[in-house]
Amino acid sequence: MSREFQKSAFHCRQCGQCCEGRGGIVVSPRDIARLSDFLDLAPEAFTEQYTERSGGKIKIRAGEAGCCIFFSKGEGCAIHEAKPAVCRAWPFFRGNIIDSESFALAKEFCPGISPHIKHGDFARIGRQYLHEHNLLANDPACEAATLILP
Ligand code: SF4
Ligand code: SF4
Repeated sequence: MSREFQKSAFHCRQCGQCCEGRGGIVVSPRDIARLSDFLDLAPEAFTEQYTERSGGKIKIRAGEAGCCIFFSKGEGCAIHEAKPAVCRAWPFFRGNIIDSESFALAKEFCPGISPHIKHGDFARIGRQYLHEHNLLANDPACEAATLILP
């Protein structure tokens, strides 16, 4: 898929809205390996320092502002090059792909989603994007459910 074609569905405006607020950034073993390598830490040290366990999964810890610990207002994501799969996959989450109402809410929330794109086209481009970028998960025990498509 060409980048231009993908941009017809989504082009991040870097507003930072999706990194604010506590929550839900599940990291898989693959994410932990990449992130610890990026931060030059042993995987155990990365997990200890930057993650917490909740709902049976390992998630990125929140910082003092209650947002993702890697997010700073005005500066964005400190681990952009190595960020977790869920962050790479947004807005092509399972709910937004299979459910038009979730998609409509996502469109209101994220200014990067093209206001003109129809749900069917968004879903088709999203599925292709996830496949091409190896962002589909297959283990619900340790990966984000948002990445597991039917
Ligand atoms: S809310 Fe959308 S446009 Fe804003 S930073 Fe997140 S992905 Fe990009
Ligand atoms: S890891 Fe980066 S992209 Fe993901 S929520 Fe945190 S600051 Fe945002």
